[in-house]
Amino acid sequence: MALIVKKFGGTSVGTTDRIQAVADKLAAAHSSGEQQVIVVSAMSGETNRLLSMAGEMMPKRADPRELDVLLSTGEQVTIALLCMALIERGVSARSYTGGQVRILTDNSYNKARILDIDVSAISADVENNTVAVVAGFQGVDAERNITTLGRGGSDTSAVALAAALKADECQIFTDVDGVYTTDPRVEPRARRLERITFEEMLEMASLGSKVLQIRAVEFAGKYNVPLRVLSTFEPGSGTLITYDDEDSTMEQALVSGIAFSRDEAQVTVSSIADRPGTAYSILGPISEMNVEVDMIVQNAAEDGSTDFTFTVPRQDFARVMEFLESQKVTMGAREVSGDDKIVKLSIVGVGMRSHAGIASRMFKALGDSGINLRLITTSEIKISVVIDEKYLELGVRSLHEEFELDSDPA
Ligand code: ADP
Ligand code: ASP
Ligand code: MG
Repeated sequence: MALIVKKFGGTSVGTTDRIQAVADKLAAAHSSGEQQVIVVSAMSGETNRLLSMAGEMMPKRADPRELDVLLSTGEQVTIALLCMALIERGVSARSYTGGQVRILTDNSYNKARILDIDVSAISADVENNTVAVVAGFQGVDAERNITTLGRGGSDTSAVALAAALKADECQIFTDVDGVYTTDPRVEPRARRLERITFEEMLEMASLGSKVLQIRAVEFAGKYNVPLRVLSTFEPGSGTLITYDDEDSTMEQALVSGIAFSRDEAQVTVSSIADRPGTAYSILGPISEMNVEVDMIVQNAAEDGSTDFTFTVPRQDFARVMEFLESQKVTMGAREVSGDDKIVKLSIVGVGMRSHAGIASRMFKALGDSGINLRLITTSEIKISVVIDEKYLELGVRSLHEEFELDSDPA
């Protein structure tokens, strides 16, 4: 019999009624003989609620260890409620926190990485026809401290468990019925993809599509876990994330999807001396502040001085601006300016590899819509631009139309 790891996200377990509906679904699968291991998120809104309470106690930055103790409680509620609902339906069920399973992580609180999973207890449950319900998003480090895996981390818990259990498939149940050509909440004409490659899904996730956590996709690719995104609320086969296999019926589109991220801010250091070491003098200290710099552009120097522009996560913008202002004189820069009302908009597709002219089509479509491009970066299978936040919806829609993503390429 197939062993399936099923993960239910926050909206899917957002109320007690919804938890009951999930229990109905699992009980039906159970009685048909399916072997299943379940991972759940906290009820929707709960992680944010906990974060805001932490913010009241320590407004600058919550103590990382205590924050993880707090955040892990969200998932502990849903594992217990779901097990109760299953037991009430005559299904043998048992809940596990990350520590009880022993999902061993490193000790980076708030963004820990899974190192190892002890599957002995869960495998025994599977053998005994008991449904194990595991708290997503959490683990323990070698010193038994509770850790969490970063926002959206329950996806990664599910994929890692599926890999460790050598499950036949990992199914991510959520509030959309699959991976779409772009976020269907922004472009209603977005189309569900039957399949998408790991490579494309990884780009989509890292460029802002929050439908799957990046690490979940990395893990699934690395351990070759068949991964599927499906709706909790509607029937359907969802989207399968697979390797690009020449013989498969993979949709051969040039562009598979459009991703965007609102989590961006842009910083410019103007009229700084153009000489060896300039980039390091700006970016070195910023990396020491633990801020991840993304796109970087340096203008061609004219009179021996240059402008240096880069993007940082929006949450770090104020901190970075304050630091650069304080360093302006030392750096010999004329001005430090910035803007946190920007977004990154990207097109992704393995089909771009073998086709020229995609970038110019993208730039023309955005230009024709009157959207100014502030920064551009390209790689083999993606092109990203930074634009004003107010043009995000327009930009997504014009690219969706330009690359005919609403119609099936087959
Ligand atoms: P969950 O709580 O189940 O983990 P998330 O909110 O994390 O759900 O992820 C699902 C959401 O991802 C959808 O509601 C949708 O708005 C968003 N999303 C962003 N990009 C895409 C995409 N390309 N395809 C489908 N959903 C997307
Ligand atoms: N509850 C966590 C979050 O909101 C983890 C998850 O839902 O995947 O980020
Ligand atoms: Mg999620």
